[in-house]
Amino acid sequence: MDSWRGLPAAQQPPWPDEGALREAVAWLSVAPPLVTAEETDRLTSLLGRAARGEAFVLQGGDCAERFDHVTPERVAGRLGTLARMAEVLEAAAGVPVVRVGRIAGQFAKPRSAPAETRDGVSLPSYRGDIVNGAEFTGAARTPDPWRMVRAHRASAATLELVRASGVPVHTSHEALLLEYEGALTRRRAGGWYDTSAHLLWIGERTRDPGGAHVEFAARIANPVAVKLGPAATAREVLELADRLNPWRVPGRLSFIARMGADRVREALPPLVRAVAASGVPVVWLCDPMHGNTETAPSGHKTRPVARVLAEVAGFFEVHRAAGTRPGGLHLEMTGDDVTECVGGAVSERDLPLRYESACDPRLNREQSLEVAAYGAGLLRG
Ligand code: PEP
Ligand code: MN
Repeated sequence: MDSWRGLPAAQQPPWPDEGALREAVAWLSVAPPLVTAEETDRLTSLLGRAARGEAFVLQGGDCAERFDHVTPERVAGRLGTLARMAEVLEAAAGVPVVRVGRIAGQFAKPRSAPAETRDGVSLPSYRGDIVNGAEFTGAARTPDPWRMVRAHRASAATLELVRASGVPVHTSHEALLLEYEGALTRRRAGGWYDTSAHLLWIGERTRDPGGAHVEFAARIANPVAVKLGPAATAREVLELADRLNPWRVPGRLSFIARMGADRVREALPPLVRAVAASGVPVVWLCDPMHGNTETAPSGHKTRPVARVLAEVAGFFEVHRAAGTRPGGLHLEMTGDDVTECVGGAVSERDLPLRYESACDPRLNREQSLEVAAYGAGLLRG
């Protein structure tokens, strides 16, 4: 299970204190598991149904969760929105919708630059609450390994709220911090389970087939997913399919395409065709968020809902043309009435009013329901 150590691992924080890192990892390696192997296996089989077209997947939640947002109201808001979206999609799909939250562990963020400069001052980039603080001060931005322990506690508290609301929601996050994921990985009858979440995905920036993240994901028994941007080649994707699903288990592997509305119709077909020809069962999910990020004149990162819908439409078209199955949607969304994406009641000049994301812009409740209704229309054909 330690085979990932020694391989190149992109996007790991420069922990300043080796001793503290070792202590925090030791704490985590005896910490209570957050999810069980049985629940995890159940998600694999539900995703297996999606691979066969007998279910549709809705994966959604914050870009970056925050430690101080673990409140019953906020968690209920996100889950309520996710549940309402699932109902809308389910009515149209005619098959069950599998709900997967970007929740209870989505604390680590890959960054395009290691440092951020404001007014001539340069500090380490914010890498998510699990690494450092968002506040632009030297103290907050210094990576602190004990934050991994806080992330485990915040995940456990969130899960308690998730489980109390009675709707079956599985958890997922990006498996970015390998020290954290490795410390929570436990031996069970069915193999090694990463007990930090039911499903783990590998991001667009860390999906190097020869890198540590893919090696880690190859060794765990959880269902795994990989984000694919427009530069992904059929060869890379086949290598990932082979590494991550050598036994061809339906539900074990999902690919999350995040191509951008302008690129999806040309970038996705060769990948979908190559995977179909290989015979490796894969669930294809559409992330219409990450390829459609823009900077508004106010400086806010935003996403026009119209572009989000356009990518979803392109994703469905590509699958219809290839004779393959659109398996689900992957969205950054919240139940709160935020002003982060442009569309519906939110115009560009509203962005500063309630912009609360620590990282990427999320669909608010109304916009999330709009995307669900649009997806439902496409599912009806
Ligand atoms: C994300 O899901 O927040 C993310 C960073 O995605 P990607 O790896 O697709 O850029
Ligand atoms: Mn994001």
